[in-house]
Amino acid sequence: MVIIMQAGAPEAEVDAVIQAVQKAGFRPWVNPGVERKVIALLGAVDAEKVELVDHFSALPGVERVTLISEPYKLASRRTHPESTVIEVDSTSIGSKQLAVIAGPCSIENRDQMFSAARAVKNAGATLLRGGAFKPRTSPYSFQGMGVEGLRILAEVGRELGMPTVTEVLHPGDLNAIVEYADVIQIGARNMQNFRLLQEVGRTGKPVILKRNPGCRVQELLTASEYIMLEGNPNVVLCERGITSFENATRYTFDLNAIPVIKRFSHLPVIADPSHATGDWRYVTATALGAVAAGADGIMVEVHPDPAAALSDGPQSLRPEKFHDLMITLSSVAKAVGRDIAGLDAHK
Ligand code: PEP
Ligand code: MN
Repeated sequence: MVIIMQAGAPEAEVDAVIQAVQKAGFRPWVNPGVERKVIALLGAVDAEKVELVDHFSALPGVERVTLISEPYKLASRRTHPESTVIEVDSTSIGSKQLAVIAGPCSIENRDQMFSAARAVKNAGATLLRGGAFKPRTSPYSFQGMGVEGLRILAEVGRELGMPTVTEVLHPGDLNAIVEYADVIQIGARNMQNFRLLQEVGRTGKPVILKRNPGCRVQELLTASEYIMLEGNPNVVLCERGITSFENATRYTFDLNAIPVIKRFSHLPVIADPSHATGDWRYVTATALGAVAAGADGIMVEVHPDPAAALSDGPQSLRPEKFHDLMITLSSVAKAVGRDIAGLDAHK
């Protein structure tokens, strides 16, 4: 249930509504809003409580009360009609400027990281990615450099002035990740690791939540609710391919998810064409499609020498290919009214 206050309703009326909400056994959540305040009621609305709609509607300053049937509230556009913009240092995700997150799948060593970072920064990337804790299908595959990798990521990010993104696999690694990185990634495999979502929510840091290939959009939104309920509104949703019968690509890129999420949620949405396709040859086409479909950004794997990469080499772009992608992307971005960093450099 959400209570929409009249524009300019005085503070005292808002407070009285909040008190009434608490008295009825709900946790109120207030979206300050530019024009009018919206108070969301967190908790299950059973048949008995539906009667409260009339009760709340009659309170002074209330414009209307609507029931939210979706199992997510904080992520819903009904609670928060304006699109959310998440500030990360001097850049942002969800604004007019396209967020371009690029870098290798895994941090392998200082040279590799510096070389990838310089290339993506020169091409116009706004955030630097690199995994230190890797979720590998086989325990015999490279598992990531751990904290040593985080230190390299932080050093490179600092030197080049790029905010960093890295994945968390286990709550025990969170302190180190919070210390060294700017954005925490929750990978596809952990989308429904609810305790991890809650722990990440408590850090207050921006989070990129990747969709599990076997989960529906609604499950992704409900998962984001676990993070937001801990008081962390800084959640970015990421479409990275779903499982289907098609085996020509690693996953099937669900382009539909982008406008669908935009309709139902105010959270920024990005797309990861690297994991969605699993093949560098398809990365540019799907990245362009994602931005044309309304994505707020893309996350792309770039490696200075993909053939030597310790993870996800076949889907990693060479620096020159990433540069080409950015040139084409600048036209698409312009066509859909987006700014892209470094656009002038591409003209
Ligand atoms: C990654 O970003 O390197 C990764 C492991 O992605 P996903 O969780 O989408 O598979
Ligand atoms: Mn990867």
